Amino acid sequence: MISKIIAEDKIVKAKDLIYNAEKIVILTHASPDGDAIGSSLALYHFFFSIDKETTVIFPDGYPAYFSWFPGINKSLIYNEQKEQADALLHDAELIICTDFNEPKRIGAMTNAFVNAPAKKLLIDHHPNPIDGIWDVSISYPEIASASEIVFRLICRMGYAADINKLCAECIYTGMLTDTGRFSFNSNNTEIYIIIGELIRKGINKDDIYDKIYNTYSENRMRLMGYLLANKMRIFPEYKTALIILTEEEQEQFDFQIGDAEGFVNLPLSIKGIVFSAFFKQNNNKIKISLRSKGSFPANKICEKYFNGGGHLNAAGGESSFSLNETEILFEKILPEYKELLNK
Ligand code: 5GP
Ligand code: MN
Repeated sequence: MISKIIAEDKIVKAKDLIYNAEKIVILTHASPDGDAIGSSLALYHFFFSIDKETTVIFPDGYPAYFSWFPGINKSLIYNEQKEQADALLHDAELIICTDFNEPKRIGAMTNAFVNAPAKKLLIDHHPNPIDGIWDVSISYPEIASASEIVFRLICRMGYAADINKLCAECIYTGMLTDTGRFSFNSNNTEIYIIIGELIRKGINKDDIYDKIYNTYSENRMRLMGYLLANKMRIFPEYKTALIILTEEEQEQFDFQIGDAEGFVNLPLSIKGIVFSAFFKQNNNKIKISLRSKGSFPANKICEKYFNGGGHLNAAGGESSFSLNETEILFEKILPEYKELLNK
């Protein structure tokens, strides 16, 4: 038996929204990661098993190493199927959002979502959700993944028996990826009780691990080696590392969506490094990824300097300055946090 983290009134309200809606659309954040795809597709499979048809819409494309996800080929990609997606959003009676809590994280889809007349349900684990958007917010930052919240919600609504193998595979993948393969945010014993249940549903966890982490391209491995050998800067006095990936380098290594996934974590394997930054040039913007260990707040830096946010130890944002200017800004930020970084 696992504890009842989600408040009972939220369960009742969510169940009511679901019960009263026939046309349901499920959304998740841009550049979807394993938890975004896992939580949204887990709901898709759950609804299928209780005879409710739903559509998952991703704001933009997903990495090839996620294409094995059951049901992903039935989903829409907003950038590529805008007309169809807009019609679905407009006609929806219920829109469920997973793994994000501020509308701008769905990029080009933001307006269509905000203006849609549907009821809106949030299932998320990021701190400080924006008010006034969702009719019901199931928001628990203490839970390691949105996919775990989906599991808890389905069970609490009384549908545990309707979690099929495909749904379980999606839930497990979100739990696996959002805890860095159970290397952080993963001391809650209930995570492992849930995994036991998912294995009972028929998932092969070793096989999922293999599909997620052992199917990268040769180019991605070579790019990783190149960045570690040639581009990683270490700031020992700040226990910090920085890697910058330019557009030119992306071309050189035939960069594909998702090829940089996980690179920001690599320097944290160095003894003593507690803060790691990864900058990726993208058209006229720089995508910022920050990771930290312990109590160092990566999200606060993203909020203050990079128009973003996220979790304590994993956050993101962007910079409209040049790569060079962004690098200089980052170097200027570090002394402000010297004490915290050396705590
Ligand atoms: P990543 O570095 O993998 O892109 O993002 C790590 C985490 O940071 C995400 O799970 C999300 O919580 C957060 N994040 C990434 N980009 C943004 C952003 O632009 N805005 C906000 N608020 N959070 C972000
Ligand atoms: Mn997540």
